[in-house]
Amino acid sequence: MRPVDLRSDTVTQPTDAMREAMLRAPVGDDVYGEDPSVHALQDRLAADLGFPAALFVPTGTQSNLLALMSHCERGDEYIVGADAHTYRFEGGGAAVLGSIQPQPIAQDADGSLPLDKVEAAIKPVDPHFARSKVLALENTWHGRTLDFAYLGRARELATRRGLTLHLDGARMYNAAIAYGKPAREVAAGFDSVSVCLSKGLGAPVGSVLLGDVAFIDRARRWRKVAGGGWRQAGMLAAAAMHALDHHVERLADDHARAHRLADALRRIDGLNVTAQHTNMVFIDVPPARLKDLAAHMAAAGIRLSIGYLPSVRLVTHLDIDDEAVERTVAAFASFAY
Ligand SMILES: *Cc1c(COP(=O)(O)O)cnc(C)c1O
Repeated sequence: MRPVDLRSDTVTQPTDAMREAMLRAPVGDDVYGEDPSVHALQDRLAADLGFPAALFVPTGTQSNLLALMSHCERGDEYIVGADAHTYRFEGGGAAVLGSIQPQPIAQDADGSLPLDKVEAAIKPVDPHFARSKVLALENTWHGRTLDFAYLGRARELATRRGLTLHLDGARMYNAAIAYGKPAREVAAGFDSVSVCLSKGLGAPVGSVLLGDVAFIDRARRWRKVAGGGWRQAGMLAAAAMHALDHHVERLADDHARAHRLADALRRIDGLNVTAQHTNMVFIDVPPARLKDLAAHMAAAGIRLSIGYLPSVRLVTHLDIDDEAVERTVAAFASFAY
């Protein structure tokens, strides 16, 4: 039985065509700036998203870290959602490695940081305080798109109060598809953007950080310091390029399948589907039933993320087809909640 892995959109296998593209990629030593495939990827994303410069990096976590370290100095702070990836799920990297203080703000249900609370958190210029430097947003957040008009309001606040605006756009292409807008409109207004290629786009490895030339020069230096200076990375860049050519529009299929999956699960007695946005579905299962549910699903060859709040997360992606959705629904339907 083919396993159905709904834990995350990071679990995709490179397609045969992607592997072919990797085999054919011209490569060089990227630390010397000599990998043509890496340059092609960076140039392409910079042009697509409307930034002067781009840097291909191993992970989204490193990309966000380099962004914060390149915007901030020791003793600066970034204002960030209390449930944002850059605060909660990156090991405290900005503080640990960058001496940058996070200022978390409780998010609204849609993932936005209330701008009055952001403004109230900006510290006076005074030696008692860390220097408020960056406002970091995340789009999508747990699959939710930020309200498109909110992006403009956040930009206005950042400009008015002298903050640098960073987007953790790990799933920015999912947001673009959901808005029905080109990705560059989602990125517009941000001083820097981090995009993951290894999530819904289906590349095996990699993220790209975008910004102005001086910022990307600083990020390249910090990437080396962080041990992320890589050599013949062009094979990975070629996979990412293939993903950009072939796997962006199809994100709409993942969203449609997540929608159908949520609809079908809502019809199952006793199952509480709490949300579905873009490629994610969340289910609340009584804690006492979670262990049995996990065993039941494992026996059906289905893997889920358990332990999130709400308790179960299902993510559709490149390797989840209609049959996988049907099998998942059937497995949920045959469990007693
Ligand atoms: C996955 C993710 C990251 C980090 O990406 P890694 O490549 O796993 O380090 C950053 N932000 C968000 C919102 C993510 O979902």
